[in-house]
Amino acid sequence: MTNRKPVVYINDERCRNSYSCVRVCPVNAIEVKPQKEHPYILPNRCIGCGLCYVACTPHAIEFRDSLEHVKKLLSSGRKTVALIEPSIASEFDDITDYRKFVAMIRSLGFDYVHEDSFGVDLIAAAYAKLFLKAEGKYLITANCPSIVKLVEKFHPELVSNLAPLVSPIIATAMVVKKLYGPEVATVQIGPCIDAKDEAFIYESDNLIEGVLTFVELRELLTNSKFRKDS
Ligand code: SF4
Repeated sequence: MTNRKPVVYINDERCRNSYSCVRVCPVNAIEVKPQKEHPYILPNRCIGCGLCYVACTPHAIEFRDSLEHVKKLLSSGRKTVALIEPSIASEFDDITDYRKFVAMIRSLGFDYVHEDSFGVDLIAAAYAKLFLKAEGKYLITANCPSIVKLVEKFHPELVSNLAPLVSPIIATAMVVKKLYGPEVATVQIGPCIDAKDEAFIYESDNLIEGVLTFVELRELLTNSKFRKDS
């Protein structure tokens, strides 16, 4: 895993003090103080939702970079497995034939490519069983790590209402480890910034050793030998 910087932070050199991040943050996690030149994200309040990342036009909001770590995994000689969120098709709408995705990702050095939708099916079945046994108790789905953080940080009285189930990406990683063995290195690739923190929760089990956002995947592909027309 990469060193543990905050999952989202502000690059002061790019910040133009537009405060668009402050306006969109749903949990008031961005501090503005007269004695400080730029706003500052409070890690203990941030839930990693990424809204500020999208809102900041000078691109001053950055997230924890995992590229170098993943590149090291890919050149480590270990078998590597990419776990891909199905929304890759909408992110890379320039790739019109979805069958190219597997070849694209394998061209980076991954040995196997799996879709997280397998984990979605597993977890959907587990939720169906859970709801049948809920007996009137309200349950909050725990698929989104930002929602889990929101409950834990701001509504601790609701923690017991969080569904006691792992997310689809963690379920997929568990299956992949069973399939190929505990020694394979798994890398989650998707749109979610906060999946980087979610992976840390399972660090001791080595379930997910790297998390790339689609932004990072695009950078990796751009700088690799892969070309769209190859
Ligand atoms: S990632 Fe979300 S919670 Fe964190 S500072 Fe940005 S908008 Fe606020």
